[in-house]
Amino acid sequence: MKTIVKTIDPDNIDYKIIDEFGKMLSDGKTVIFPTETVYGLGANALNEDAASKIYTAKGRPSDNPLLVHVSEISQVYDIVEFVEDRAKLLMEKFWPGPLTIIFKKKPIIPDRTSGGLDTVAIRMPSDKVARKLISSAGVPIAAPSANISGRPSPTKAEHIISDMDGRVDGILIGGACNFGVESTIIDLSGDTPLVLRPGSITLEMLRDVLGNVEIDPSILNKDDNINAKAPGMKYKHYSPNADIFIVNSDDKTGAGTKKVADKINSLVNDNSKKGLKSAVLCLNKNKPLYNAIVYGLGETYEDVARNLFDVLIELDKDNIDIAYSESFEEVGVGVAIMNRLKKSAGYKIILAD
Ligand code: AMP
Ligand code: MG
Repeated sequence: MKTIVKTIDPDNIDYKIIDEFGKMLSDGKTVIFPTETVYGLGANALNEDAASKIYTAKGRPSDNPLLVHVSEISQVYDIVEFVEDRAKLLMEKFWPGPLTIIFKKKPIIPDRTSGGLDTVAIRMPSDKVARKLISSAGVPIAAPSANISGRPSPTKAEHIISDMDGRVDGILIGGACNFGVESTIIDLSGDTPLVLRPGSITLEMLRDVLGNVEIDPSILNKDDNINAKAPGMKYKHYSPNADIFIVNSDDKTGAGTKKVADKINSLVNDNSKKGLKSAVLCLNKNKPLYNAIVYGLGETYEDVARNLFDVLIELDKDNIDIAYSESFEEVGVGVAIMNRLKKSAGYKIILAD
């Protein structure tokens, strides 16, 4: 398939390009577009055949439902059975932005889009290019992350073009993905709202609006006896070819950081004797502690969330065999970071103490 690739300046939007790609979407074609979380692989959410093309392009299991993106809150009412008060509060507070809400779907949403469920996951992105594109298409757009299934989600143009050129009809390159991890997903079907996937809208932020909010227990730890409530969370995910390990210390002081660095340095040393190329993922301030190839994840947890997927993709480009990551505290956006990191590491955690 020939892919049309165009770049758009979010500060000076060329509406001819938006309309060209909007028409592709309304014609049932697939378009990759930027959002504030990661790039999405979009198609008309109301068109069964169009939605099928997303699964083919990603190699995505067919029981894994797609997220539906809207450009206005009013579009939600066209595709869901009812909007309860808690959903209204969340939409008012966090939309447009990286929060996905699960609703009971109307029959207009085909099974292909909802993965056979009677619910549909919806969000309104804050990225200007994304919203203009959805609005130009004139229909809600189903758009999961634009990676091949199982691989890290892409936040950079070069990663998308190298993986997806030839697999989709169009690629629209825009500004930076500010958040870097996918949206928070919340399910309001029970008495207590449940976070099915942690993201940049944190538990604390949700509790400020709704009071009690819990997190799906399968998110925090690997437990084969607990089924994830978001079907996609059960799959192997975010995995580069490099083997990832998280190295942790129970000591959260500077001494703990030093123990982690000593442990990693000794593992790197052993690996190099075996001819294996190792790397370290760490906060920038800790870079000098390591005798290895080091990938700085940034200064703050927000930086780590933004940069994590890029770094995971870079490991493969640099032919790294084994990578050791520092661990992050599971508070705020740290919950989302550790969820993605643990999955990419296949839950392999080494204690440095
Ligand atoms: P992605 O679009 O790649 O960010 O993945 C979408 C995530 O949302 C996957 O983990 C899906 O399983 C999950 N999801 C989508 N629709 C629903 C739904 N109706 N109920 C629960 N989880 C959903
Ligand atoms: Mg995804």
